[in-house]
Amino acid sequence: MNARRAMPDIAIAGGGMIGAACALALARNGFEVVLVEAREPAQWRAEDPEDLRVIALAPSSAKVLDQLGVWKPVSARRVAPYARMHVWDAESGGELHFDAVSEGRAELGWIVENKLLQWTLWQALDQTGVRRVCPGEVRDFEVRTDRVSLELSEGEPLSARMLVIADGAKSTLRDKAGIQTRGRDYAQRAVVAHVATEKPHEAAAWQRFLPGGPIALLPLRDGRSSIVWSMPEPEAQRMLALDDAAFCGAVGFATDYRLGRITETTPRASFPLRLQLAHTYTSERCVLLGDAAHAVHPLAGQGANLGLRDVTELVAVLSEARDGGRDFAARHVLQRYARRRRSADTLDAWSFDALARAFAWRASPLVVLRGFGMRAVDALTPLKRKLVEHAAGRG
Ligand SMILES: Cc1cc2nc3c(=O)[nH]c(=O)nc-3n(C[C@H](O)[C@H](O)[C@H](O)COP(=O)(O)OP(=O)(O)OC[C@H]3O[C@@H](n4cnc5c(N)ncnc54)[C@H](O)[C@@H]3O)c2cc1C
Repeated sequence: MNARRAMPDIAIAGGGMIGAACALALARNGFEVVLVEAREPAQWRAEDPEDLRVIALAPSSAKVLDQLGVWKPVSARRVAPYARMHVWDAESGGELHFDAVSEGRAELGWIVENKLLQWTLWQALDQTGVRRVCPGEVRDFEVRTDRVSLELSEGEPLSARMLVIADGAKSTLRDKAGIQTRGRDYAQRAVVAHVATEKPHEAAAWQRFLPGGPIALLPLRDGRSSIVWSMPEPEAQRMLALDDAAFCGAVGFATDYRLGRITETTPRASFPLRLQLAHTYTSERCVLLGDAAHAVHPLAGQGANLGLRDVTELVAVLSEARDGGRDFAARHVLQRYARRRRSADTLDAWSFDALARAFAWRASPLVVLRGFGMRAVDALTPLKRKLVEHAAGRG
C-alpha cells in the first residue's frame, strides 16, 4: 500500500446530495477522497412513485451537475422544467410574474427528486476512485498536526489531510469542530405532498403568500404538482391529520384555485423549518458544506443551490492551492473558501428571512406597502431581471 492510499487527501462526512457532489467534484479534480455516509442511499427506479422530496434546481446548479457528468442522466430520467413563476400575496393582492422567455432563457429551473439526484451522484462515484464507507457514521474526530483522525461507528479509524463536514442541518460534527450557529426557529413546518389538479400547471411554479406562510405548487413531469406549504407547527399537525378529501379542499382554497380544484393527493410528509447559519465555515483542517453550514427557509427554493455553489468554490480553492504546490489543507486556504461562501450565503439567508418576515406582516399599512412593493417590482423589468439572474446563480 503506497502512502497516498494509506492516507486520503480528503474525508467527507455525509453523502447527501451536497456531500456526494463534493466527493465527485474533488475526485474529478484529482484528489483522493473517502466518503462516509450513515445511511445507504435509496435506489431510484422509474417505476417507483415520485419521491415526496423535490427541489427546484437553478440553471447554475444544472451546469455544475453537467460538468460532473450527472445532469444528462438525471434529466433523461425524470425532471420537470419550469419556464414561468407566479407569486402572489393573499392579503394585499400584489403579484409578481417571471417568464423565462422574456429573460432570453428556455427555462427558469427544474424540479428534481432528491432521491434521483443523490442516487445518480452515487452511481457516478462508481466510476471514480472514491472509497465509500456506507453505512458508516463519523462519531468523532481529532485534529493533529498533519491530519484529521476519524472515529467511525464501525471498523478501523481513518485519517485524511482534511475533513469536509456535510452531515446536514442537524450536524453533530459541526458542534464537535467547535463551530456555533445563529438563526431562528420559525416554529413552522413545511408540509409536502404531490397533488393532481383540475387545470394543467402549464410548466409554471406557483407560490401564494398566506399570513401563516407560503404555499408553492411546483410542476411535476406527469402533470401533477408538488406542494410545499410552510405553516405554523400546530396548523401543520392539523393538516397532516386531515383525511385526503379535506386536505385537497384545504390546498385548493389556500392556492386560490389557480389550478382549479385539487382532485387527488399522495400521503403527506413534513419538515421543521429554521434559519441556521454557522458563525464560520472552517476550523483547523475542517470545512462545513451544504446544510451543515446553512439551513434556509424553502420559500426561495435555494438551500441545495447554495450547497452546490459551496462545492464549486471549495474545489476551486483547494485545487488552486495544490496546483500551486501549496498545502491545500492550510488554514489560510480553507479560510479563503469560508470567507467567500459565508458572505454570499449570509446575504441570501437573511434576504430569504426578510422575505418570510415581510410576508408575515398583518398590520394593514404594511400589507398595503407590501402590495405596492410587489407591483412596483413586477413593473420594473431590470430589477426583475436581476432577481432572476440571482436565483439562477449568475449574479
Ligand atoms: C421542504 C423543503 C423544500 C426544499 N426545497 C428546496 C428547493 O426547492 N431548492 C433547493 O435548492 N433546496 C431546497 N431545500 C433544501 C435542500 O433540500 C437541502 O439544502 C439539501 O437537501 C441539503 O443537502 P445536504 O447534503 O447538505 O444535507 P442532507 O441532505 O441532510 O445530507 C446529510 C447526510 O449526512 C449523513 N450523515 C449525518 N450525520 C452523519 C455522520 N455523523 N457520519 C456520516 N454521515 C452522516 C446523513 O445520513 C445524510 O445523508 C428544501 C428543503 C426543505 C426542507
